Amino acid sequence: ARTLRLVLGDQLSRGLTALDGAQPGEADVILMAEVAEEATHVPSSRVRIALFLSAMRHFADDLVAGGLTVDYVALDDAGNTGSLAGELTRAIARHGTRRVVMTEAGDWRVEQALIRAAAAAGVDLDIRPDTRFLCSRNDFRDWARGRRQQRMEHFYRMMRRRTGLLMADDGDSPAGARWNFDAENRKPFDAKAAGGRPPVPAGFPPDEVTRAVIRLVDARFGAHVGDTAGFDWPVTRAQALAALEDFITRRLERFGDYQDAMAAGEEVLFHARISPALNLGLLEPLEVCRRAEAAWAEGRAPLAAVEGFIRQILGWREYVRGIYWLEMPGYAATNALDATRPLPWMYWSGETDMACMAAALGQTLRTGYAHHIQRLMVTGNFALLTGTRPEEVAAWYLAVYADAVEWVELPNVQGMALHADGGRMASKPYAAGAGYISRMSDHCRGCRYDPKRPTGDGACPFNALYWDFLIRNRRRLDGNPRLALAYRSLDRMAPARVAALERQAADFLAHLDRHGSDRGFGRP
Ligand code: FAD
Ligand code: SF4
Repeated sequence: ARTLRLVLGDQLSRGLTALDGAQPGEADVILMAEVAEEATHVPSSRVRIALFLSAMRHFADDLVAGGLTVDYVALDDAGNTGSLAGELTRAIARHGTRRVVMTEAGDWRVEQALIRAAAAAGVDLDIRPDTRFLCSRNDFRDWARGRRQQRMEHFYRMMRRRTGLLMADDGDSPAGARWNFDAENRKPFDAKAAGGRPPVPAGFPPDEVTRAVIRLVDARFGAHVGDTAGFDWPVTRAQALAALEDFITRRLERFGDYQDAMAAGEEVLFHARISPALNLGLLEPLEVCRRAEAAWAEGRAPLAAVEGFIRQILGWREYVRGIYWLEMPGYAATNALDATRPLPWMYWSGETDMACMAAALGQTLRTGYAHHIQRLMVTGNFALLTGTRPEEVAAWYLAVYADAVEWVELPNVQGMALHADGGRMASKPYAAGAGYISRMSDHCRGCRYDPKRPTGDGACPFNALYWDFLIRNRRRLDGNPRLALAYRSLDRMAPARVAALERQAADFLAHLDRHGSDRGFGRP
């Protein structure tokens, strides 16, 4: 082959720059490889592995149907080296090629390994920008340069202007005269006010390709979490578009209202459930934003909902990618709060008496999905308050979610959930006691703990942990103006009360360390 074109598992887009200029015939060979390393460097959920492999196989079939030549290495092919670098090296030799074309990888680790493999083989490696993103790595770097703080909100406004999404006719001010509708987008879920339970998201039962992949994954990765029996993720571009349409027509209207809500038995609420399709490349961010904007223009969804949704993709998703590529490889090792606790075992077993944690962990381990507030304010908050090591927390998030890819997972863990980056992304840690969860969910009603009690029997662990977190990290966080109020409350507390909170937290943490869970805590 004259040119070997590498397509990675999260690059399943026909418009991918690595495919620019690819011609039918033998001169251009497209290499796709299923490798064990990508499923085991953290023990990936079987749901996630099945999703990636099935989507890859469907995409390869598509390319072949379009007349292109695909060299597809399956997971169980004889000779599979188990790594992307190994497969690139083998393919270079197999095809006698001198030129490799690829699109920038999502992950720093993968890109480095491929660059090294190409150099070792002495071939010319052409790495093209990933134009599926709306802000390139370089554009982000330019934007970030010279700014003391690089807050998402400023980046997002720049991106709104640049794309024209939700802009007024002057092209400079926001539609509806406001950039931000967050204040409206914070209602707890109420089935009556919402006009009933949220519609069940469209599902896509496995076809023969997916069933074969599931058999392979279950046989090979039986010990990994994830329930493949209920697999219903979109695995083709057509299915991904149908999933998007299902969201736009049936859930977008209420997305804003219940964006931060949690409810027992409601795993998706009004969220889009499209992150896996976006991250695989089956949907492109701009088309998703434009589709939501059109729904608003047609009067089918309020501006607050559409703005809240577009902010997640045009704002957060692009922003975390920018931060990731700006800060790697150092970002993965940040630990500004010196957190050292091993990840509690309940993250893998789901066994806990804390109803909010049990709900978030249970659905995560089974389905590979939880929405943002569950990830940030329940499992993330618990890891933050307990002082769990960022490296272990990040490995968990990367393993358990169907949508997990490091460039989006890592900044959300280090920057948003754990404040491990010392405030690079978020101006304060997202630390919260039970008050937040009891306001935004109905979990506390079905919990053996009492969200109102700070100490004593049956007190919700989040309460004492919250104060203990502030006390423990006083030296690091005291100067933060956004925590001034919290520290003032702490200073007004009677010393005996402070001591009781510290004791409660210490007892809880000791129990957690011994048992990996809170099960039985505070019980004789
Ligand atoms: P919706 O709430 O409907 O939002 C729409 C889209 O916006 C999402 O599909 C996603 O593409 C984007 N989005 C929303 N929030 C974020 C965010 N904070 N950062 C980047 N993009 C966002 N998302 C991943 O795709 N992969 C991950 O590995 C991942 N790990 C996370 C880890 C932690 C600790 C936290 C707090 C968040 C993480 N997120 C991750 C972000 C977010 O939780 C998911 O994108 C979202 O829950 C996916 O569900 P949805 O499609 O229903 O999202
Ligand atoms: Fe979670 Fe505490 Fe409420 Fe129980 S009482 S659901 S642990 S916040």
